[in-house]
Amino acid sequence: MKFTQLRLAGFKSFVDPTDLRIDPGLTGVIGPNGCGKSNLLEALRWVMGATSAKSLRGDGMEDVIFSGTDARPSRNHAEVVLTVDNEDKLAPARFNDADSLEITRRITRGAGSAYKINGEEVRAKDVQLLFMDAGTGANSPALVRQGQISELIAAKPQNRRRILEEAAGVSGLRARRHEAELR
Ligand code: ATP
Ligand code: MG
Repeated sequence: MKFTQLRLAGFKSFVDPTDLRIDPGLTGVIGPNGCGKSNLLEALRWVMGATSAKSLRGDGMEDVIFSGTDARPSRNHAEVVLTVDNEDKLAPARFNDADSLEITRRITRGAGSAYKINGEEVRAKDVQLLFMDAGTGANSPALVRQGQISELIAAKPQNRRRILEEAAGVSGLRARRHEAELR
């Protein structure tokens, strides 16, 4: 799965709509302290279905919404759109014909998050599984937060196993089994 574009609006410091093209190969993000480099990575994790506010450096999920500055009022929504190619056909079957997938997550104050694939409403689980099956996702070990290395070293064996399972690409299977067991 290749990521081709990231669009943010009202997400953390990216209050105005911001479009980033993601070209093949390595992408570097450079800029002065506090310019929003880490926020970009968090936007990527968030649109893939992150459920932990702490991993997004917030106390609650609504902390990702632009909270205002002296010059600008706060917002009521945050939205991130990630465009990926659809070569691997990992999305639910009704999206098989599309060449690319536009995954949208939008949060509204007091109303929680809503997810879409190519404009159609889907469950958080659909988005999370799509990225897990592609060997990535909100908890992917490829996205390394500050402090995560020391967390890994100090982790309990069960938690360390979860990290290794993510790396091995079997966490999508585990999530599906869990869902099947709940039925
Ligand atoms: P560093 O080089 O220090 O790691 P960085 O480029 O990674 O910096 P970020 O941590 O991504 O910077 O951005 C921090 C900025 O984002 C701060 O100015 C902070 O006030 C702002 N910010 C974070 N959350 C919000 C929010 N909900 N609303 C508005 N601004 C926010
Ligand atoms: Mg940073």
